[in-house]
Amino acid sequence: MGVLPQPSSSSESLVLRVWPCGETSVIASLLTRDHGYVKVIAKAARRPNSRLRALVEPGRVVTAEYSLNPNRELQYLRGGSVEQDPLGPGSTLEDSAFLQSALELVDRCRPLGGAVAEQDDHDPAAELFEICDAFIRVLSSRSCPRPDLAFFAFEWELLDSHGVAPEVGGCTACGLGQAEMSEVTMWFSPAEGGMICGTCARSDGVSSGKPLSLEAWQIFISMAERRLDLADDTPFERPMRREIGAHLHNFLGYHLPGYRLPAALELLRARKDPSR
Ligand SMILES: [Zn+2]
Repeated sequence: MGVLPQPSSSSESLVLRVWPCGETSVIASLLTRDHGYVKVIAKAARRPNSRLRALVEPGRVVTAEYSLNPNRELQYLRGGSVEQDPLGPGSTLEDSAFLQSALELVDRCRPLGGAVAEQDDHDPAAELFEICDAFIRVLSSRSCPRPDLAFFAFEWELLDSHGVAPEVGGCTACGLGQAEMSEVTMWFSPAEGGMICGTCARSDGVSSGKPLSLEAWQIFISMAERRLDLADDTPFERPMRREIGAHLHNFLGYHLPGYRLPAALELLRARKDPSR
């Protein structure tokens, strides 16, 4: 009499978080391409010679083989291989901070799945995996000169995957077009869902967000049109980086349930600018 074969699967996965478990094991939460969020136990993965050890480093994209038993909350990690390691040799403290921040956002702001996903044949978890995979690919390439820009683009994609990407083609309140917008003062308003003109901002009062500079607007437009040049190595001036970061932070906070500023970003911000 044979033992019934255990259902199992193999899928590209992003390692989001890990916890030690018992003497030598590790529990890891994965975002998989094929099965959404999956929590696995990697038996004895903390032993020096464990072949599972390399598969449970946060931020790595791995091909993971795991059990797929619907009756278990925790699946067994059985093996696999490392596909992308964004924190290999040559990575910087900044790479690490932006990576940790992205993992935290993905872990906290989970898209709706289940019934919604089945209705229109759109799988939010698979889409989210693609967004993360693209970001980690950029971060892993040692030629990535701008982890900050890559991270902002990731935040934009995260908003888009939730169906709430900012509108930056004109004033979302009165419909003033893109050409006219560059002639007037511009504001960026989470409550209005994107940019608005100065006139609408004044009539809105306190809920109208914050001023939007021409440079920041142009970066947002290239994000919206998917033509951001991530190979561009011109660094942001600090005020520009702060402006873009703040607009996106406010927008995420307004539109994504569960969002808060990732801890690693807070650290980075404190380190860069001790006065704040
Ligand atoms: Zn307007």
